[in-house]
Amino acid sequence: MFKTCGQKQQSPINIYEGDVVTNTNIPPFKFTNYDANLTLQLSNSGHGALVSIAGSTLASISGGGLVGTYNAVQFHFHWGNLSSAGSEHLISSEDFPMELHIVHYNSKYEHIGRALPNPDGLAVLGFVFAISDTGDNGNYADLVENLAKIKNPDKTAQLTPTALNSFLPASFPHFYRYPGSLTTPTCEESVTWTVFKEPIHVSEKQGQHKLFLKNHQKNKTNLFTIVHFVINNKNKNPELLQHHLIQKSLTKAHLGILCRHSKNSYDVT
Ligand SMILES: [Zn+2]
Repeated sequence: MFKTCGQKQQSPINIYEGDVVTNTNIPPFKFTNYDANLTLQLSNSGHGALVSIAGSTLASISGGGLVGTYNAVQFHFHWGNLSSAGSEHLISSEDFPMELHIVHYNSKYEHIGRALPNPDGLAVLGFVFAISDTGDNGNYADLVENLAKIKNPDKTAQLTPTALNSFLPASFPHFYRYPGSLTTPTCEESVTWTVFKEPIHVSEKQGQHKLFLKNHQKNKTNLFTIVHFVINNKNKNPELLQHHLIQKSLTKAHLGILCRHSKNSYDVT
């Protein structure tokens, strides 16, 4: 059993904007090699689509209130069976069709395995999705096309080398910050979460591709699946999430919403 699941600092949470404490002192994020084309391998992790970052180019983040530099290792997507209920995090009880997580580990550790057990081990950037009626998001075309090759768990496909920032919104100045955990087993409480307010836009057609991917939940009913299902169910039950946030009241001061109007000035939204 996963003894770290169900502890106090578990993610995801429902981020109530009314409860958010503003921090005006957070410096801007610095993104290194987010504009460099990276070697990307798509796989079906059993939880969904996961893209591993391979090759020698290291993409990393610093600033944004993080202590130190965090190296990107992979990004993955969370989604539900309904097109409107797939995000892990809720923002003021609103859910979104999908959520992107870019996973980084603290560069002071040798590799992600060493970083994982430590409270400052990981930094995950979360982006929610919105369905847009302005057509396909061309930056997702290659990834969506390759989803057909990884319908079954453990399948992989090579993507065209792409820069991380092409998967992100054009600008994303607002974010929420809280200390939390991995959202799937083994649920280590080692994640500094940054959830951005600005969504990534994809077309309805692109969003529907996710429904064709098989995952372990449908194929197996082992212990792993049951734990994952319970965690995922938090998404669908706002009361559970609200309760969860109340338990997190001690850490409420760490939640922050930041609005960047110009390079050096911040204020509240
Ligand atoms: Zn995730």
